[in-house]
Amino acid sequence: VGVLAGKVALVTGAGSGIGRATCRLLARDGAKVIAVDRNLKAAQETVQELGSNRSAALEVDVSSAQSVQSSVAEALKKFQQAPTIVVNSAGITRDGYLLKMPERDYDDVYGVNLKGTFLVTQAYAKAMIEQKLENGTIVNLSSIVAKMNNVGQANYAATKAGVISFTEVASKEFGKFGIRVNCILPGYIDTPMVAVVPDSVKQQVVQRCPLGRLGQPEEIAEVIAFLASPQSSYVNGAAIEVTGGLK
Ligand code: NAD
Repeated sequence: VGVLAGKVALVTGAGSGIGRATCRLLARDGAKVIAVDRNLKAAQETVQELGSNRSAALEVDVSSAQSVQSSVAEALKKFQQAPTIVVNSAGITRDGYLLKMPERDYDDVYGVNLKGTFLVTQAYAKAMIEQKLENGTIVNLSSIVAKMNNVGQANYAATKAGVISFTEVASKEFGKFGIRVNCILPGYIDTPMVAVVPDSVKQQVVQRCPLGRLGQPEEIAEVIAFLASPQSSYVNGAAIEVTGGLK
């Protein structure tokens, strides 16, 4: 039996990339996993890989308060237990120069990356507190872009910097409930999100990265699994860079 046996985990953005790898590793460590995605088919593919006795898919748009709210009761039903592990991995980019950035691209990125993290964290922390579940752990996905502040990523960088502050405040407010909140700043990870980055930019990143390569989604998921586990019981309010040394 793994360190997460008996626990239920909820992972957003579970139909792809880091979210899917996280589902895999949390299940490996013994957790039951609720795979949440706006793309139900993608979440179902994750579940298919893990097996339906230890995982379930839920269609949720994290940027919609109503969608998140109604997911709580559904999530509870899946394994007759509120999740005590929550991973906010749903995220999008809409890159573009600031002077040409449509309001819509700003709003969409904000809605998923920052508001979505807020809505999911609030709804599921409430459920944990109401059910008096101890040892909750919430992991948010920021990005090293929050510090690199790349040209063409004003919307994305701002939301990912916001996730760091949000995480720290949440860690202070939830500590008394035994809920820890941490975030990870991944570097460039080989997922569908990065597939759209031009090759020339990827090459620059690889050259600047001391390890000389992109990361794999599992290399982020391993750190998430650690933050989800009791082995990280005194880690709270932290922002952990997992970038291969890229700054
Ligand atoms: P990805 O594009 O592979 O997967 C993101 C998933 O989120 C998709 O399955 C998508 O359907 C889902 N999603 C998008 N909007 C949603 C919504 N409104 N509601 C529910 N689900 C939604 O991305 P990834 O590379 O796995 O990134 C995961 C997280 O890690 C993101 O928050 C991203 O910003 C962050 N991150 C990624 C990298 C990287 O290099 N890949 C680097 C730093 C941070």
